Amino acid sequence: MSLVTLDSMRENDWTRVLGWPGYKVYQAEIDEPAKRLRLWVRRKRGNKQLVCSGCGQLVSAIAETYEREVRDLPCFEYLTTVMIELYRLRCPRCGVKAEKVPQLPSKAPFSKRFEDAVGEACESAAASRVARQFGLSANAVRAIDLRYLDRWSTNRKKPALRNMGVDEIHLGKKQKFITVVSNLDAAEPLWFGQERKKETLDEFFEKRLSPFQRGAVQAACVDMWDPFRQSIKQWLPKCRIIYDKFHIMQHANAAVDEVRRAEFFRKGGAARAVVKGKRWLLLSRWVNLNTEKRRQLNALFALNRRVMKAYLLKESLDRLWSYRYEGAMMRYLTNWIDQLRWQRLKPMEKLADMLLRHLEGILNYCRTKVRLGVVEAVNGNIRALLKRGRGYRNLNYLLLKAQRMAATRTEFVAFRKAA
Ligand SMILES: [Zn+2]
Repeated sequence: MSLVTLDSMRENDWTRVLGWPGYKVYQAEIDEPAKRLRLWVRRKRGNKQLVCSGCGQLVSAIAETYEREVRDLPCFEYLTTVMIELYRLRCPRCGVKAEKVPQLPSKAPFSKRFEDAVGEACESAAASRVARQFGLSANAVRAIDLRYLDRWSTNRKKPALRNMGVDEIHLGKKQKFITVVSNLDAAEPLWFGQERKKETLDEFFEKRLSPFQRGAVQAACVDMWDPFRQSIKQWLPKCRIIYDKFHIMQHANAAVDEVRRAEFFRKGGAARAVVKGKRWLLLSRWVNLNTEKRRQLNALFALNRRVMKAYLLKESLDRLWSYRYEGAMMRYLTNWIDQLRWQRLKPMEKLADMLLRHLEGILNYCRTKVRLGVVEAVNGNIRALLKRGRGYRNLNYLLLKAQRMAATRTEFVAFRKAA
């Protein structure tokens, strides 16, 4: 190991390589077998603008100096740390306080650009993989990522809310449902709330929006879930409620699934084997299936005409949103409901009743220019995040992650498809 106090030439070289504005390297240590580089830095002579970390004011009275070691970006193969000389200040307002240094964003032992590198890596890989890459624990990576996202969120301009989406996501057995409010114009999630009650959404309107902001919301895309509708009616009486295709088709899929279960529940043996594992096929759109999958679905339909009818009804309901004129949409829906007669498909009849009860909100699709498909895209992104990384016990972290994802369009596959 070689510890060197540097002559002025080598000092300048290391200072340039490190590239911390206003700081110079005055000592370096190279541990060759361990592949570690350690640099000692202090302020350059002209750089004595000391800022209090408590109040952000310039302070000139120094109480004492001390050192902190932080990990910085690696230098070639060398894991690099920087030992930095810092001041504790005597602030007239805060008393004795550490100085604020742009390279040190938190109390954690990492430089800002190191945290940025970890945060960026987390945008396209799971925390566990990033942890291996940087030689950190997965928990340390998540903590860094959260700080990185927090800084990004604090420094950016928040888009105004005009059109909102409300959705629910099932997190798992323990946490169950969360309510997701999104900004449809910005195509990003805005807020998460526990459960999916009227009180959940009430809390968003009451605590997160000012009366002025509430007045500015023109439309809300929601599921046909009464607690949400009630909350919107109470807090945003002038807001137009739209029941969008995404949510209605979820109900249609559920109805097909119910028919399937009822039909094959009574059948045993061979028939059951054909149906086994075919659930998702029934939930897929015909156009998205390849020849083999279509053949499998046809084999299933040959066994049961009712399941086939339910499937065809679901497929034809999808076309409801190809109409942009109220009258045409209404006609199509009436015809669709007429086809249910004599079919004795209870789940489909229940769906039709639901659609009729929510008719206004369905027809509102023709009366607005809201970006539909965004709710679905936001939902898809959150699902992708949940699938990729365990450890979203911190809902705020999940929200920031999904917002960053939307802002950088990293995985906006679902949205592009819908648009
Ligand atoms: Zn202060």
